Amino acid sequence: MSPSPSETSRETSTPPGLAVEMTGLRRTYGDVQALDGLDLRLEPGEMVVLLGPSGCGKTTALRLLAGLERQDAGTISVGGKDVTRVPANKRDMGMVFQAYSLFPHLTVLDNVAFGLKLRGRPRAERRRRAGDMLDLVGLGEQKDRYANQLSGGQQQRVALARALAVEPAVLLLDEPLSALDAKVRVQLRDEIRRVQMDVGTTTLFVTHDQEEALAIADRVGVMNAGRLDQIAPPAELYSAPATPFVGEFVGLSNRIPARVVDGRASLLGTSVPVLPGSAAEAGVALVRPESISVVPDDAGHGHVASVSFLGPVTRAGVMLDDGTLVVAQLMSSDAARLEPGVRVRLEVAPAAVLVVAP
Ligand code: ADP
Ligand code: MG
Repeated sequence: MSPSPSETSRETSTPPGLAVEMTGLRRTYGDVQALDGLDLRLEPGEMVVLLGPSGCGKTTALRLLAGLERQDAGTISVGGKDVTRVPANKRDMGMVFQAYSLFPHLTVLDNVAFGLKLRGRPRAERRRRAGDMLDLVGLGEQKDRYANQLSGGQQQRVALARALAVEPAVLLLDEPLSALDAKVRVQLRDEIRRVQMDVGTTTLFVTHDQEEALAIADRVGVMNAGRLDQIAPPAELYSAPATPFVGEFVGLSNRIPARVVDGRASLLGTSVPVLPGSAAEAGVALVRPESISVVPDDAGHGHVASVSFLGPVTRAGVMLDDGTLVVAQLMSSDAARLEPGVRVRLEVAPAAVLVVAP
């Protein structure tokens, strides 16, 4: 079968993604420093997720990039062109927000075609392009329904289709899944990633949910008080946090007292390498629960205090005889003998750890 005209047009008319560069962005609101010198570069076609707690400046960064807000200092370029002074409606960005932002009294198709109408595209082209985008997000069948007849997850798919319909240079998503329930959230995040890879649009996705960030990003940028603490591929961010903030914000970590000698940390009777950025002598090591194994041992230095079955994995809280509580995570198939009260010893995997000030 030959490709339909619309498929052909999508493949040939979509420009390759553009690089985005934000340099030294600052923005204050009264005496709040929302952005404190943000430097961030997105490679062409890349999906970067900005992750951080509420109030750390994620939305401000997105709004500056979109031109909806003016920076106090710093520059922004897209595809090598300085857009710092280009108004929002000339920046060619597609946006999806947390709250449903569709026109409830327009059909799904008209919602998606809206931006094309503003740009004066002919009706037939608008309908074809909007139909293509709805197919892309799996809502081709719903095109004639009204927006307010759709579920929350469907509305966010339409919002995504609408943002992509105008073939934006950059796609911006500000916590687009946070109003949805857990199951839809996971489905839709994978869907957004699939669509983003399909169209190849450079994308900045903002969230405070670390699992979401790790699941879909090419690189995750962790924001802390208006700046970027670290930006790295998900696996690297998780295994080699560069700062105490990243180590504690991303994933669950035990805080276990450790001594540092010659680039190695001693903890729980084991010596493991330390990550760059660690404290010099003594402190607490941030150790992932899955890096700790629990072995029943009558001569061990602690006992099982709690057991939580989480499906494929089980978490065990182990109380050491010195009063330290350590959380370990193991495959549920290995957890059969762990019951509260059982004497155990802990073994630490040889993965490098970050040691931070206590
Ligand atoms: P995030 O999206 O990470 O939750 P924001 O970028 O929305 O953070 O906000 C960063 C900081 O700037 C917060 O302290 C917030 O209260 C403040 N802020 C953001 N927008 C405004 C505004 N329009 N007026 C006053 N303060 C604001
Ligand atoms: Mg926000």
